[in-house]
Amino acid sequence: MDRDFDNHMGAGGTVQGANGFLTVDLAALASNYGKLRSMVAPKRVAAVVKADAYGLGAVRVSLALQAEGCKQFFVANLMEALALQPALERDVQIFVLNGLQPGSETACARAGIFPVLNSVEQLRRWSSTADDLGRTLAAVLQFDTGMSRLGVAPDERPELARCLNACGNVEVLFLMSHLASADETDSEQNCGQLAEMLRIVDEFPGFDPCIANSGGIFLGPEYHGVLVRPGIALYGGRATDAADNPMQPVVKLEVAVIQTRIVPAGTSVGYGGAHLTSAPARLATVAAGYADGLPLSLSGRGAVYYEGQRLPIVGRVSMDSTTIDITALHEGALTLGSRVEVIGPNQTLEDIARDAGTISYEILTSLGHRYARTYC
Ligand SMILES: *Cc1c(COP(=O)(O)O)cnc(C)c1O
Repeated sequence: MDRDFDNHMGAGGTVQGANGFLTVDLAALASNYGKLRSMVAPKRVAAVVKADAYGLGAVRVSLALQAEGCKQFFVANLMEALALQPALERDVQIFVLNGLQPGSETACARAGIFPVLNSVEQLRRWSSTADDLGRTLAAVLQFDTGMSRLGVAPDERPELARCLNACGNVEVLFLMSHLASADETDSEQNCGQLAEMLRIVDEFPGFDPCIANSGGIFLGPEYHGVLVRPGIALYGGRATDAADNPMQPVVKLEVAVIQTRIVPAGTSVGYGGAHLTSAPARLATVAAGYADGLPLSLSGRGAVYYEGQRLPIVGRVSMDSTTIDITALHEGALTLGSRVEVIGPNQTLEDIARDAGTISYEILTSLGHRYARTYC
């Protein structure tokens, strides 16, 4: 076990003052990487580590994956790429999914980071940067195959082809697109997007496709292209509706009890008196709230766990705390300093996301910064 260097170490290796405890299981992460690699072999597996590796720590996560042989990393923007790069080996490739803002091309080129070019304009700018620097610059080309988010639109492809012929100083590494419904196995959008990607590969001969995120990997080998780009599956999230989640959980979150009380029937709990006890109850207040990434939408919904027992959230989630009903436990089971499970063996990421009316991605990327983080 090895504590995050950002945390203040107290006596005995405990993180001083923290009330929430987030564990990131790097061995499970490595095992998930290996599982995806065996699913797509001999194709390569990149790692999507944008948004601080979905909240888990981009440097720690990327170093662990690099140790497993991962050589390609995707981030959202150049700032993330520049922050990550010094931590990794020189031969690692870092790709910027959101393309480049005008004016940042030179910094990107000088750092040896690869932009995902999403438009003809971005290709032109990259090419003129190559001119300025007197060298060839590599990049990825992204196409919109039906998500209408990022990438070259179908009617811009002829112009892109002309521009590419004129830009002898841009080396295309591969062709990329993104699936809109990859987690829905039965969605017809998947094969429609794949067919469009294959037309693009015909139109731009000599380059390989890259289309699969986590969900895309589970759609089958025809989606694997030359390289797959999983994020959520690496972090233990469920990426497909086709099967039970085959990935190992990576995140465990426990929070401390900061007070307990016994109340009569008719007691109002929390802001707005949103909960009224219908019978005498025992309550506990635990030390995480919406500022720690427990969504406000969990107010009066969802639960935490203690020794396998479900303890429902009552009243509104506060900024720094949440109140739970612990009547189901025997008296004294929870005391000041006891820890309850928010994410763990009894409650998956998907469970809490569902109760909050959101998705696992949002739960992960919202994980707070006041937790003591342990990487093991
Ligand atoms: C975020 C992202 C991914 C990773 O998606 P997951 O569903 O987390 O596997 C892959 N490709 C692109 C373009 C993305 O934006």
